[in-house]
Amino acid sequence: MTERLRDGTPVLFGYIDQRGQYADLRVWCRWCCHWHTHGAQPVGTTTHRVAHCFAPDSAYQRGGYWIEVTATEYAAVANTIKAANAAQQRALCAGRVSDAVRRLRDQPSPAAP
Ligand SMILES: [Zn+2]
Repeated sequence: MTERLRDGTPVLFGYIDQRGQYADLRVWCRWCCHWHTHGAQPVGTTTHRVAHCFAPDSAYQRGGYWIEVTATEYAAVANTIKAANAAQQRALCAGRVSDAVRRLRDQPSPAAP
């Protein structure tokens, strides 16, 4: 899988998760097969963040990632990709990558806006 890079650091799409008066920025992590949550930023901005990865083999742990904040809401993309379940997350934390998790990691990331 090829990722867009900026200064050698991956660039991921971020989606605003608006829940009433609260908003977070959600980023799909293909290593953890999980939506990581960061503080919301304005649509159209690009911001660097330290990765919240729990998968010890995540390449994002080295230098974090850039997040390009899209106008697409998290609710519109959340169900377009299958996340790891709780047992798979525990295994990932322990550094175990099953065939099922490999298939989750191979999913195409949520579409560009
Ligand atoms: Zn991660």
